[in-house]
Amino acid sequence: MIKTYKFRLYPTRKQIEKLDWMLDICRILYNSCLADRNRHYKETGKGLSRMDQQKILVQDKKNITYLTGIHSQVLQDVLFRVEKAYKAFFRRLKSKDGKAGYPRFKNYGRYDSITYTQSGFSIIDGKLKLSKLGTIKLKQHRNINGIIKTCNIKKEIDKWYVCLSVEYNKVIQKQTNINKHIGIDAGIKSFVCFSNDNIINNPKYLIKSEEELIKKQRRLSNKKKGSNNRKKAKVSVSKFHKRISNQRKDFQHKLSRKLVDNYDAIGAEDLSIKNMVKNHNLAKSINDAGWGQFISYIAYKAEEAGKLFMKVNPKGTSKDCHICGYNCPDMTLSIRQWTCPVCHTVHNRDINAACNVDRRMLEKIRQELPEYTLGETGSMDDIISSNAYALKSIPSLNQESSSVRAR
Ligand SMILES: [Zn+2]
Repeated sequence: MIKTYKFRLYPTRKQIEKLDWMLDICRILYNSCLADRNRHYKETGKGLSRMDQQKILVQDKKNITYLTGIHSQVLQDVLFRVEKAYKAFFRRLKSKDGKAGYPRFKNYGRYDSITYTQSGFSIIDGKLKLSKLGTIKLKQHRNINGIIKTCNIKKEIDKWYVCLSVEYNKVIQKQTNINKHIGIDAGIKSFVCFSNDNIINNPKYLIKSEEELIKKQRRLSNKKKGSNNRKKAKVSVSKFHKRISNQRKDFQHKLSRKLVDNYDAIGAEDLSIKNMVKNHNLAKSINDAGWGQFISYIAYKAEEAGKLFMKVNPKGTSKDCHICGYNCPDMTLSIRQWTCPVCHTVHNRDINAACNVDRRMLEKIRQELPEYTLGETGSMDDIISSNAYALKSIPSLNQESSSVRAR
């Protein structure tokens, strides 16, 4: 398994100069690789591969002396990034989502990290040693277990970090007996809804920070272009952005930890399934970036703990009655609550969706994962009372949440 460790770096002024220079050279290389691909395609009708660009780079290094001031893997990684940008572009093009967005040139300052992909780095006596750069002071707040695979140096506004991706062997005992299971779904007004009737909102401090950010952005837009005050305001806005992002990560880490600690199986909608986006509303899509991160936190924590995380077909999760299976033909987004005409259950829209996610997960486990057994409480007959798994197991989060009884 791969784990990432992130540590703060304290480079000297001279090292910062060199690092900034390296970032900029890599940025220029990145842009010229994009330009080469464009030109080659226009001239020959064929694309350039990463291997082609690799050969060009080898030639360039003979003529352009400053390229030798950077570790060869760091340069090669730039080519990987170009390739990745192109692959993503073609994927978007294929999925016919309309705007594919051609890979873009990076402006000054927009290339913010470099990667040593195999070697050229080591940690010695609490310091990071980098080829072509020297040793940098590092605040290593935890021990590293495993083998360091890659080393990424990142600039975040005015601070420097190292992200080490570390491979480690851990024997994971898969927990195949599922007693406690839960379906989750992104709420329209809340952050997440659970199949056990609970709803968790974005924490108040986060909402407050976001409001403050809007104010700061407004202040920034009022500043004269090119003025020093504007530059200062810009830094302040980006720092604030960073702070919010950290707050959000912290909140999501805690919540995903509680979920994985308390449940054997967790289900969520598979948002990569195409054409399901139809009834996907605006508020939800705004939330999507944060939601994707949350899902990834759950997925890796579950994997580490040997628990099951499953993605299910999202089609019509909010329209099907999770009790009797009645399919509500039409439901606008404004409908928050509805009554099933067949079984007369009053549904909270989002909770019902989460219940359907839970149910679909159980169906999928039965069909596709014979090695798993559903414990007594996990049997199909008992899905209705799956709501009985009250979220008392997530006590400290209840301050930020409100429980909604759907029926
Ligand atoms: Zn019903």
